[in-house]
Amino acid sequence: MKPSTRAPHWHRTITLIGVVAPTLALAGAIALAWGGLCRGIDLWMLGIGYLLTALGVTIGFHRLFTHRAFEASPVVAWTVGILGSMSVQGPLIWWAAKHRQHHQHSDEELDPHSPHAGHGAGVFGAIKGFWHAHVGWLCERDLRSQAQRYAPDLFDDPISRRIDRLFALWVVLGLAIPMAIGGAISRSWEGAWLGLLWGGLVRIFVLHHATWSINSVCHLWGWREFDSGDESRNNPVMGIVSMGEGWHNNHHAFPASARHGFGLQFDLSWIIIRSLAAVGLARRLRLPSAEHMERKRLHSRGRAVTVPP
Ligand SMILES: [Zn+2]
Ligand SMILES: [Zn+2]
Repeated sequence: MKPSTRAPHWHRTITLIGVVAPTLALAGAIALAWGGLCRGIDLWMLGIGYLLTALGVTIGFHRLFTHRAFEASPVVAWTVGILGSMSVQGPLIWWAAKHRQHHQHSDEELDPHSPHAGHGAGVFGAIKGFWHAHVGWLCERDLRSQAQRYAPDLFDDPISRRIDRLFALWVVLGLAIPMAIGGAISRSWEGAWLGLLWGGLVRIFVLHHATWSINSVCHLWGWREFDSGDESRNNPVMGIVSMGEGWHNNHHAFPASARHGFGLQFDLSWIIIRSLAAVGLARRLRLPSAEHMERKRLHSRGRAVTVPP
């Protein structure tokens, strides 16, 4: 009998809570705002919380720990690792292992979240593929045991190992901090709950979908500039929303590059990494050579906007 690809019951339950709770919180927050219960401080906490935790994912989880695209001082590594963990996208090593598997098998059967491989043809197959790439893959078999295979170096690195093990603490802190700020500013429980709602749960919801859109949208809509051997796309909207990660075709062509947006393509994560390097907090920034880029550039086929099959 073919083994099930579905995750154990407990895993699916936790994942479901992690996905559904922020969604319900968003609905509640909109209803409260409709009734006039939304303060400026709540929206500031949403915006700043989103910016900080998104950069934790892009600079920390993705470019530093998963791809080793640069070296960071311990204080930077801890900071971006903790901020990334507050996005509630799973523990650091699990996240990195899944992502390395994605690069190794991009848009093939072993890719954990391809919208293309194995979803059938036609409109139904396209919808199924999008859903799987966006959120459905989270309910498949937990690859915790495979983390040793894809990310053994992260178990050996004391910083990533400790950040990973303390995941629950960072999640609680990511909720408690906006709650405490909201309560302290308004000196009321109502302010505390609104801080938890907007700065915690709604912020998690928005970043969840921005990150997952890199897996779904950026393998479907946009253009290709480089031969990456897969269906990754450059999508300028996602480039801005996700701090530079939307230049996904560039990234798949040059996974080890600390910079994803080339030329005028806006890449906030790269600007910050370069700034950290300028003050001595980051070093050994990896970039593709001009010859390497030219070799992979799609001269005649590039820049064509394609639609999903
Ligand atoms: Zn990808
Ligand atoms: Zn990557």
